Amino acid sequence: MKTRILDDAFLTRLAREHGTPLWVYDATVIAARVASLRAFDVIRYAQKANSNLAILRLMRSLGAELDAVSAGEVARGLAAGFARDEIVFTADLFDRAALACVVETGVRVNLGSMFMIDDYGKACPGREVMLRINPGFGHGHTRKVQTGGEASKHGIWHVEIPAAIERAHKYGLRVTGLHVHIGSGSDFEHLTYVCDAVGNLAQHFGRDLSVISAGGGLPVPYGAQDDPFDVERYSETWLATRDRIAHELGRKLQVEVEPGRFLVAESGCLLTEVRGTKHSGPIEYVLVDAGFNDLLRPAMYGSLHQISALGRTASAPAKPRVVAGPLCESGDVFTQGPGGELMPQMLPDVVQGDILCVHDTGAYGASMSSNYNARPFAAEVLVTDGVARVVRARQTVEQMLENESSGGPL
Ligand SMILES: *Cc1c(COP(=O)(O)O)cnc(C)c1O
Repeated sequence: MKTRILDDAFLTRLAREHGTPLWVYDATVIAARVASLRAFDVIRYAQKANSNLAILRLMRSLGAELDAVSAGEVARGLAAGFARDEIVFTADLFDRAALACVVETGVRVNLGSMFMIDDYGKACPGREVMLRINPGFGHGHTRKVQTGGEASKHGIWHVEIPAAIERAHKYGLRVTGLHVHIGSGSDFEHLTYVCDAVGNLAQHFGRDLSVISAGGGLPVPYGAQDDPFDVERYSETWLATRDRIAHELGRKLQVEVEPGRFLVAESGCLLTEVRGTKHSGPIEYVLVDAGFNDLLRPAMYGSLHQISALGRTASAPAKPRVVAGPLCESGDVFTQGPGGELMPQMLPDVVQGDILCVHDTGAYGASMSSNYNARPFAAEVLVTDGVARVVRARQTVEQMLENESSGGPL
């Protein structure tokens, strides 16, 4: 089990005080992750990993800029105090709300499809844009997060770059940025390949190119055996790429990194109360009050999140146990693999009222929650220098029903 800054007694107190399920984030961890990427010219936080306003304000105070993928995320960024030129909108289509939003707010756009150039060019001729390119290959930790290659919907196909630039110029758009986000992970051989490809792609961009973006996809060591990410080697590889391309093109270039998960995953945990235990044949079940309505990743991707029982010493006798939630859905299990196979974790004996801690859930946790089974959104707490603050109150049942209650009689 990895070392944790927030200790068991502190977390247990938070669970008792605020109820469960409860998301807890540690600002110290986020600050350390941002600091580790300082070598980049711009750190652009991909807020879809965790878009709580308090987290966004924290990112801003740490000097990060922001990526937004919807009109709602642009609104969150502005509400958190980001200036419009600190926000980039990235997508593969404009829904009507998003197009209206970028036209009105003037945030920069990063276009991932050819038809978006027409949508945007007609509405905002003469502005500046970035192009998200699919270089023809990808890398991701599961098929559902493959972000490059023929099987990905993301980006403008690399062969179309000259046509895309020509089309942008037709509207007087200046193409200032080249963006790739293909989840290169910690595979440095693959990263070299990505950087070479970016160098080649950059040759097709015109005189206005001033930014290359490495995208996100920096990995997080979710498993006890996973090595921490070599962030220095990653940074050095991209800075060298920037310098090489700048030299070839004979002009100054900036390099951006756009992480979501890496900045927030390890800052967060999900606290959930044990409501009972049972066994079915040889399988031991621990049933808790959080479900995939709260944390979707295990059910959606078979993602691993280590689970520990707060206040139970590591030396207590442990058994393999399946941890499952309250939803009327057999996939509502936190300990499963990508194919839905049960992957029990070693846990000590627990009883009703014990608190389990689901680790490394600061990214794609609360932001992917739903109201499935009519369960309200859980509360979120941010801990700064040992002081805990509720940054999102638990949703009430009334709030959940709000938009349905004025329909009048049947
Ligand atoms: C999701 C996303 C990211 C962040 O991905 P992580 O794996 O969380 O780092 C970065 N850029 C874009 C455009 C994205 O859609």
